[in-house]
Amino acid sequence: MTEFTKEFKTKIYNSVQDILTNVHVRGGRTTIKDMRGRLTFACPYCGDSFEDEHKKRGNLFFDTLKYHCFNDGCKKHTTLSTLLKDFGVSDNLSSSERLDIIEYIKSNSIEYGNKTSNLEYHLFEKLYELAVPIDMFYIHTKSKPITKDSEGYNILKERLLTNRLDEFSIGYNRLLILNLTPDKKKVIGYQIRILNKNTKNKYLSFSIEKLRSQCNLPTPYEELGLTDIDAERLNKLSTLFNIMGVDFTRDITLFEGPIDSKFMKNSLGLASVNRELSMFDDIPNIRHFFDNDKAGKLAMIELLREGKTVFMWNKFIEDFNLNAYKPKNLDIIKDLNNVIQICYNNKLNAFKYINNYFTNSSFDLINI
Ligand SMILES: [Zn+2]
Repeated sequence: MTEFTKEFKTKIYNSVQDILTNVHVRGGRTTIKDMRGRLTFACPYCGDSFEDEHKKRGNLFFDTLKYHCFNDGCKKHTTLSTLLKDFGVSDNLSSSERLDIIEYIKSNSIEYGNKTSNLEYHLFEKLYELAVPIDMFYIHTKSKPITKDSEGYNILKERLLTNRLDEFSIGYNRLLILNLTPDKKKVIGYQIRILNKNTKNKYLSFSIEKLRSQCNLPTPYEELGLTDIDAERLNKLSTLFNIMGVDFTRDITLFEGPIDSKFMKNSLGLASVNRELSMFDDIPNIRHFFDNDKAGKLAMIELLREGKTVFMWNKFIEDFNLNAYKPKNLDIIKDLNNVIQICYNNKLNAFKYINNYFTNSSFDLINI
């Protein structure tokens, strides 16, 4: 693999500087921040923020030479060579240097392809550092662990989750779903389910910063060497359930919510289906398992059109004739939890074949 010399990095830095001066002309938006392993700067594609010229949401990562903009309205994702070409500064480099870059990007996309996206990795350590010890969590969220005799046990029993009691807590009409560190000793974020059904806003998510402030703990981003963008990413990661426990070298299944993710190995749970998914763009082995309702299906159809891997609800339900077993109180088989319940109550083994029902072929649109 090509190793980049300091001199070559300087050349890349200068080329980016040329782009920024061309696009943003002058002021705070033309300056580059040299972070460990990457450069951050105002995105030349979207212009980044027009209210705040110090916002730098464009990131160029040295380990992969890939560029990513974290501005939600832009989310540009490309390689260094394309970035240079798009803004007409590739001429700063000799043709052999340009080839080196292309080779480097190629070799690293294969090598890093199955690892965690470099977009997040440097934040994991910080997340662990900031995580709140579980005892402190109980005190400040006014919640208690769930035990066999306590409130909340029956809810989890009905959902076939009694083997994972330690991933929940209960208090004042609220079920708390915890996002834990792998040793289960600390909490990085959580979601509340209000148990009173009349409440409209049923799900509330708490990021690491919100959680810490609940516990009267500051979150000193600057002291930790984190930029505003890092802070935003860190908070997003903290409400991505099981993010600390997932193995990025294997297939990862991405669910809409934290509960479903508990029924499948190596999976992640989003806090909501409407969540921005660009953070997964670099991870090719992600499979999307959203709910079998309108919002979930529309999201999966969109993802399939982009070539992503999604779950085929229609085909799965039909192949195992699951609707015939659907309990009366259920309008549709909506999520994996429903599937597991139906299988359990009717002694079916359909869930064992779930892995065969993922597709990335657009011919399968009808099967979703
Ligand atoms: Zn942008």
